[in-house]
Amino acid sequence: MKGHPLILSSQTIMKKLTLLAAMALATLCPAKDTKKILLLAGKPSHGSGEHEHNAGSLLLKKCLDESGLPIESSVIKNGAWPSPEQLAAADTVVIYCDGGGHHLVLQDDRIKQLAKEMKRGCGLVCLHYGVEIPKDNGGAELLGWMGGYFETNFSVNPHWTADFKSFPAHPISNGMKPYAMLDEWYFHMRFTEQGKLTNVLSAIAPEDTMSRPDGSHSGNPHVRKAVAEGLPQTVAWAFDRPDGGRGFGFTGGHFHKNWGDDNQRKVVLNAILWTAKAEVPAEGVSSKVTPEELAANLDPKGQQSNLSIKPLLPGATVNPAICAACKH
Ligand SMILES: [Zn+2]
Repeated sequence: MKGHPLILSSQTIMKKLTLLAAMALATLCPAKDTKKILLLAGKPSHGSGEHEHNAGSLLLKKCLDESGLPIESSVIKNGAWPSPEQLAAADTVVIYCDGGGHHLVLQDDRIKQLAKEMKRGCGLVCLHYGVEIPKDNGGAELLGWMGGYFETNFSVNPHWTADFKSFPAHPISNGMKPYAMLDEWYFHMRFTEQGKLTNVLSAIAPEDTMSRPDGSHSGNPHVRKAVAEGLPQTVAWAFDRPDGGRGFGFTGGHFHKNWGDDNQRKVVLNAILWTAKAEVPAEGVSSKVTPEELAANLDPKGQQSNLSIKPLLPGATVNPAICAACKH
């Protein structure tokens, strides 16, 4: 028996309207659950295979893009600065650059621009030298946004192998397995007493981390006492700001080849998601990097280009001549 043609037609129209409404909603709100990650890569510095801000950021983007998670990432290279629109859209900002007095956030009114985004709850991740900024020029801001930073004459920057044996109960620890890594792990950071700080990566610093004389980056009585006491030193931390925003500091990342390690990538990729207030998968962010991908996008570094990442393969030691020439 046939139904009434008018009724059938109404049902069809309703179905079509419902479908159209759903499609319109999806079009209007495509990014509602998609987190936007903005990676800011600093200018080239150091020898080849070290402080590869551009290549490192592009590698992290590749891993984020291939994760299949609801995220969108973009990289601003060579110390350039994003547009106000890009900043305003970011759920988290990842900064991998040379720091100190030349930190890329210290140019123009960038600190002011970032402050606006932090206030609305945007996350912040700083990698390696990017965690260092002068105490009286940006120190208070990084402390408030990230919970800690490298303070000269208090923090130190030795090269050492950190043995990470366990991880705290925290989404950034998802899927992490114990690992050891030679890096320029800064430690004895200046931490805030506000908000909630979680030590994500901690290890006992060996005595030879204090083999250099006292100096702005090499040693001071406070850190010598802490190392002598065998206290675990935090080299990566998560921070819940009192206002709800999130920050993460990671002091490794001197050697580009270390991004070839699954755990080293995972802890940073997890942290990027967490600071963007995205859900971190139970097994953490899984990623694969081939030797070719690891060697891609390295900065052209002229005379220093003979310092390929080859000498930094596992088991190799750092060229002391290079370390003597660099502060980080
Ligand atoms: Zn370094």
